Amino acid sequence: MTQTRTPMVAGNWKMHKTVAEAQILAREICRGLPVPLTVDVVVAPPYTALTAVAREIQGSPLALAAQDVFWESQGAFTGAISPMMLTDAGCRLVIIGHSERRQYFGETDDSVNKKIKAALQAGLTPIVCIGETLAQREAQETLTIIASQLNNGLLGLGPAEVGRLVMAYEPVWAIGTGRTATPAQAQEVHHFIRHWLRDQVGSTVAEGLRILYGGSVTPENIRDLMDAPDIDGALVGGASLQAASFLKIVALGA
Ligand code: PEP
Repeated sequence: MTQTRTPMVAGNWKMHKTVAEAQILAREICRGLPVPLTVDVVVAPPYTALTAVAREIQGSPLALAAQDVFWESQGAFTGAISPMMLTDAGCRLVIIGHSERRQYFGETDDSVNKKIKAALQAGLTPIVCIGETLAQREAQETLTIIASQLNNGLLGLGPAEVGRLVMAYEPVWAIGTGRTATPAQAQEVHHFIRHWLRDQVGSTVAEGLRILYGGSVTPENIRDLMDAPDIDGALVGGASLQAASFLKIVALGA
């Protein structure tokens, strides 16, 4: 990565951890954070554990994220959580457009776009996930898909709004599969994303914005990924569920 951008390591706990388990994990992570800390560290527990984890990490440099959000501010939307409910629970960030939301819950670039705007409006930092499937990669469609996710997902956002995002490139074939993109494969897409951003909102915003890589990141592969100039950190699933492996990634992600 380029030294002008502070790296970020974010742990996506997905549908794991009871409240008590989440509190223990958060406590262990807080205790094990490197001093001084040169990386922004984020955890995204399930909704049910947000408040408890917020209390647990109070006064620490750890930041809290949610794994999804709805775009409406309130109303008859059974099962949905509004941006304001997330800030009220102590969240500073929210993951939007994760491929599992797209795959299992019908998330589209259009809903991603609405969620980004609502999250920004509420003062949250969206971590916006994009990435291609294996079939799309094998059909040489990766960059076309990424461009389309960017064009539609970020539609209508101005430079100031885009500047408040964190992007995450997560090839779907690498998520939870143990099959990480090579640093060269990831760098190609990260470079493409930054170039797209430069064209749309200018080089100042594009150069300042962090683009995380996600997909089977481990303590063993994080260093090589972070050496790529346009990879600014990691969105970590499986390896974020144990404090030891997550903390190693944090330490190596600096
Ligand atoms: C993710 O959930 O965003 C992810 C990248 O998962 P994993 O690290 O398990 O591949």
